[in-house]
Amino acid sequence: MSGWEVPLSDVRLPPEAIAAARDTLAGGWLSQGPQVEGFEEEFAALAGTRHAVACASGTGALELAIGALELGPGDEVVMPSLTFVAAANAVRLAGALPVFADVRGADDLTLDPDALAGAIGPATRAVIPMDYGGYPCDPEVYAVAAEAGLAVVEDAAHAVGAHNTHGACGSFGDAGCFSFFANKNLPLGEGGMLTTDDDRVAATARSARSHGMTAGTWERRSRTHAAYDVSRPGRNLRLDEPRAAMGRVLLAGLEEANAARRSALERYRRELASVPGLSMPFARRPPGERPAAHLAVVLVDDVRRRDPLADALAQRGVQTSVHYRPVHSFTAYRGAPAVVPKTDDLAARLLTLPLFPHITTAQVDAVCGALATELSA
Ligand SMILES: *Cc1c(COP(=O)(O)O)cnc(C)c1O
Repeated sequence: MSGWEVPLSDVRLPPEAIAAARDTLAGGWLSQGPQVEGFEEEFAALAGTRHAVACASGTGALELAIGALELGPGDEVVMPSLTFVAAANAVRLAGALPVFADVRGADDLTLDPDALAGAIGPATRAVIPMDYGGYPCDPEVYAVAAEAGLAVVEDAAHAVGAHNTHGACGSFGDAGCFSFFANKNLPLGEGGMLTTDDDRVAATARSARSHGMTAGTWERRSRTHAAYDVSRPGRNLRLDEPRAAMGRVLLAGLEEANAARRSALERYRRELASVPGLSMPFARRPPGERPAAHLAVVLVDDVRRRDPLADALAQRGVQTSVHYRPVHSFTAYRGAPAVVPKTDDLAARLLTLPLFPHITTAQVDAVCGALATELSA
């Protein structure tokens, strides 16, 4: 449907998910209701947190977390520059200042705990690490944050279902933020989830996602909640019932989908091990880790070959991408504090290959074959 022989990502919703969405449409209750509540309970069980708060997007979850932690003007928030722009935007729109710190290196594209420590100043209030590609970030980040008394918002947009021996992604900070955007591991088109063990963060996020109201439309259907108050100004960041119903079905199949992603990623690793001129990050991982395998990323040795390689793959019907152009390089973030030499080097050499649960071994082999041909030319 995409026109690519091997698209970067591909959504194939199971018939049960479509049926579940259709049932809510036929039932007539479309906005946040019992399906959202059920999705939240099941998601909290997956993340191992006391609470899960569904919302309209991953960016919305970040905004709710930043609001609940009361980050604002005068506050600095440390984050990697090698991430999607959403976290930086949410910080800036709250009136706080993003401070960009470097990643660990070629084998681990997550925030470097030493770089975090080096970026902490008197105005630093929080850190937003990101579980790049569905690999849990270095646990040392949380130790450095705790030592410095920083709030932590874990950007787990890539990491639904990922865990290590310390627990599940989304449970490591004061709040975890997930995305259900169409190209993520649990695709709903749009949607997000905030996870937390903190009762106050959960209550504030619940209220802030729905205008700051003390009771929603669903609760007010019963006579006991007919009235509501507005405790503080809020937004409308609610998730709706059809998406929540699909989310519950996809959640039930998540482990299987992530396992399929992991096995395709392992095949990439095996096939590309003998290809000259590139490497794959995240080769050495701690025992007991289960990544979500959100992205298949390679690092091209020669920076001049990255873009021509992407063009050559496109010629052969293979869609690629780059995760990410560093945030500090965007016009809106020019001049922001950023000590990120490794990020500058790595980002210019990264290339993301196709990966989705139903990618075939023939497709993976075709991508690897194309890379081998191009790089030995
Ligand atoms: C996708 C993504 C987001 C934003 O999620 P949306 O649901 O698209 O708003 C935030 N952070 C990262 C790292 C992402 O990949």
